[in-house]
Amino acid sequence: MAKKFIRVIFPGSFDPITNGHLDVIDRGIKLFDELIIAVGRSPVKNQLFTPEERVEMIEELISQRQMPGVSVESFEGLTVEYAAEKKADVILRGLRSLTDVQYEFQLAMTNRAVAGIETVFVMTSEQYGFTSSTLIREVASLGGNISNLIPENIYNRLQQRLKKDQRPQTQDQSFES
Ligand code: ADP
Repeated sequence: MAKKFIRVIFPGSFDPITNGHLDVIDRGIKLFDELIIAVGRSPVKNQLFTPEERVEMIEELISQRQMPGVSVESFEGLTVEYAAEKKADVILRGLRSLTDVQYEFQLAMTNRAVAGIETVFVMTSEQYGFTSSTLIREVASLGGNISNLIPENIYNRLQQRLKKDQRPQTQDQSFES
């Protein structure tokens, strides 16, 4: 019997993509035939990079690292609707710790209830168990060295963005709202 071709989407904010995300992608593409990194366009407060910038940065990474079977797109609205549109069989998500499990469990159950789609979880390497985009944004904005937690091109973009954006946070927020 011919092996079934399995396409997965890996949805998230990726603001910015981290080595933890990459670890999940590297593990995911070993399990499945095609993996689409799906950058959510939902209006999130305090976002550092626009969805277009995030896609561009990830595209750069995919071509630098040569990742066959991996692509990136942005999407708007429900993840399950996007998955159906792409004819994806599975939603891939990463797990860092037990804290992630509760939320991810609810999300996976909801997605299965509304669309019948399965979610597959991949556990990250221990070294990225504490890495999150939010923490990276915070630590980097305070001048901390996070160069070993994100890819080099993302690190450079982050430094440029933080240098350019010297305005205090409260101003950013009032500007955005
Ligand atoms: P979201 O806002 O949807 O949680 P994220 O970009 O923060 O989007 O994360 C996307 C996915 O990647 C989620 O499944 C999240 O648990 C996972 N993830 C984030 N950081 C890591 C990491 N360091 N190791 C493993 N998985 C991670």
